[in-house]
Amino acid sequence: MTCLDCKSELSYVDHRESMDALGVELCKKHKRRIDRLVRKNNTPIEAIQLYYSLKQAGASPMLEWWDGQKFIDLAFSRVKLNIEIDCEYEKLTEIQAINDLQQAMLSVKDGFTTLRIPHMLVNQQLHKTVLDILGIVEGLKTKVKII
Ligand SMILES: [Zn+2]
Repeated sequence: MTCLDCKSELSYVDHRESMDALGVELCKKHKRRIDRLVRKNNTPIEAIQLYYSLKQAGASPMLEWWDGQKFIDLAFSRVKLNIEIDCEYEKLTEIQAINDLQQAMLSVKDGFTTLRIPHMLVNQQLHKTVLDILGIVEGLKTKVKII
């Protein structure tokens, strides 16, 4: 049992607390940092799980990246990829949906790709989701090189 961030050994209690709250193994210090982020930005815990899974797979995403107007759940800024975790679709209102669409349009104009990942995909298909995101990042890298 080691912290996913700093690789320090975790006590049983720290491990338990972090797994119960966030679903990832973090030491006291790193859990506190993530707790603060969640409180400040209302970060979905799926974004945190996806963030650490991507890091474990060798990628370098950014958590709660500020794009100049709003915080993006996860971002690969080098390839201009933004990832947002979607809440349950039953809770989605028309207004939110149209806002999302407009945001997507604006970000495309700036050369950004926005991926909306349903939270249940992180819960149920984390490994596959990570592989597909890595594939998209690779694809965008070659596109950046061509341009
Ligand atoms: Zn740590």
